[in-house]
Amino acid sequence: MIRSLAGFFDVADAGVTRRCRARGVFRKRGVRVLVGDRVRYQPVGASEGVITEVLPRRTELVRPPVANVDHALLVFSVVTPNFQPRLLDRALVAVSVAGLSATVVLTKCDLADPEAVDCAAAPYTAAGYPVLRTAAPLRQGVEAVRAAITGRVTVFVGPSGAGKSSLGNALAPGLGLKMGDVSDKIGRGRHTTRHVELFDLGGNTYVVDAPGFSQLELDLPARDLRLHFPEFAPWAASCAYRGCEHAEEADCAVRAAVRRGDVNAERYQSYLELLRDLREKEATRF
Ligand code: GDP
Ligand code: ZN
Repeated sequence: MIRSLAGFFDVADAGVTRRCRARGVFRKRGVRVLVGDRVRYQPVGASEGVITEVLPRRTELVRPPVANVDHALLVFSVVTPNFQPRLLDRALVAVSVAGLSATVVLTKCDLADPEAVDCAAAPYTAAGYPVLRTAAPLRQGVEAVRAAITGRVTVFVGPSGAGKSSLGNALAPGLGLKMGDVSDKIGRGRHTTRHVELFDLGGNTYVVDAPGFSQLELDLPARDLRLHFPEFAPWAASCAYRGCEHAEEADCAVRAAVRRGDVNAERYQSYLELLRDLREKEATRF
């Protein structure tokens, strides 16, 4: 289901979009049909139908409300606005918690020194994320982004002005994709209810056009945070304490890796800041 409007649901199937109603039983059972849901339907005439079943969801986001997104494109500019590694690190954790895989896209590479681009990319490449470099107005890197989203349902995540719409328009000219923003000011109002829509780029490739991936308010146990920094994994088994949170424990193999330069120190600093936030949240909960 690619679009919902006032009680109707647009269902795309084999190139045909049908305007469907949902069977009344859904409402009685409290089942919501979300954009992105895979559904069964009974056709009615050539262009209408009735949704009879919502198939199990692989993922479900709350803001934006969309099902079955499997991939996030983290769109961050190297300059104008300046690269924001702390926000990127938080966003990477948020999409990982939501069960999405992640691709980092560094934009505006035409405006930055190549060394600055390398410098921004290095910690993420080292952590195992695919990192793509673009200059959308010059159409540089656009085909690599297309390859990264092909066959997937992708949400664009990034701060205002990073170049999300430019990239969306380079990928799919004429659709008028807007994409929403994320910011450091987490969850303070601004929960617009602009509609959510999936754009079908063909070949089972969809992008989410929505007011923004605003689930950056992390909601996970502090002790699980370490699982969302993939570069810790090779070292974590060698920590002296089982369940080591790689913070103040003695004989921590992750901290040793940071000291040696095998784990990026800025990424580790992000980890410590997020860990402190989550621990504070847990402490005030009781
Ligand atoms: P959004 O807020 O993330 O959707 O960002 P936009 O796509 O609206 O881009 C913000 C501004 O940056 C616009 O003026 C774009 O033309 C410009 N811009 C976006 N990507 C690039 C890029 O790769 N290189 C350059 N030079 N400018 C870009
Ligand atoms: Zn440790």
